[in-house]
Amino acid sequence: MNAFRIKLVNNCNFACFYCRECIPDEGEYRLSFEEILAVCRAAVEQGISRYELVGGEPLLYGRLTELVSEIKKIPGVDWLSITTNGFNLEKEISGLVAAGLDGINIHMDVPDALTFKEITGKEKVLNSILSGIWLAVASHMKTAITVVLSNASSDYLAVIAGLAGIYPIDIRFVNIADMSSEYILGKDEALEILQRSIKGLKSDDGLYYKSDSLKGSLQFDTQIPGAFDMSDCLMLSETGILRGNISENALCIRVCRGIGFIRTALTE
Ligand code: SF4
Repeated sequence: MNAFRIKLVNNCNFACFYCRECIPDEGEYRLSFEEILAVCRAAVEQGISRYELVGGEPLLYGRLTELVSEIKKIPGVDWLSITTNGFNLEKEISGLVAAGLDGINIHMDVPDALTFKEITGKEKVLNSILSGIWLAVASHMKTAITVVLSNASSDYLAVIAGLAGIYPIDIRFVNIADMSSEYILGKDEALEILQRSIKGLKSDDGLYYKSDSLKGSLQFDTQIPGAFDMSDCLMLSETGILRGNISENALCIRVCRGIGFIRTALTE
């Protein structure tokens, strides 16, 4: 167990048609800034060195830059990334870089404004998201783009994959497990589209694909989000629930019962 995914908020300013993540949790207990840091310290003591901040949309968390800075100050934290829809990234990226963020994973299915609006319900944000991506790459931050495979994104897979030919960006193609069958685009179909436009695409494991013409890699994952393998990852919700395969059995614990309790859970 070496990765910890921390969900900061459950809300999002996009409304992707396939998203089941953003169910309002009003009235629920929310972990405080200090509690999140305390849980990170407890996890570091147990040897967990890789952290990811997610949502909903984590850029909506009011103290994100400060939180990044504080987590990165904890000795033993080797990696900290965020997964974001990229809204406001253009404005926030310099602060996040200065705070020590190591990596960023931007969820962007298509580079076309009209289709982007059809998928997310948002308009007039795509240029800003693209600027945020370029700024992340220019600051030498490890950058990935996550594309949800659907019939809406199928026409743009090659264009997005082409970004990995120009910049050292990893592109992750993910299927959402419970997407309605009318929208599904399978991995085999997506791979066929990509192989038509990228010469010499090869993989040893059927998940990571490389080509001499790419500076980054193409990856296939089973469901969003895809930064860590969930079988080897702990997940902390914004309401203080810890889930993960700590021992043989899946674990679900209310962290708000106390940091001592989480420390005990992590050592079990
Ligand atoms: S950007 Fe991500 S969290 Fe937000 S609605 Fe879309 S899939 Fe859900």
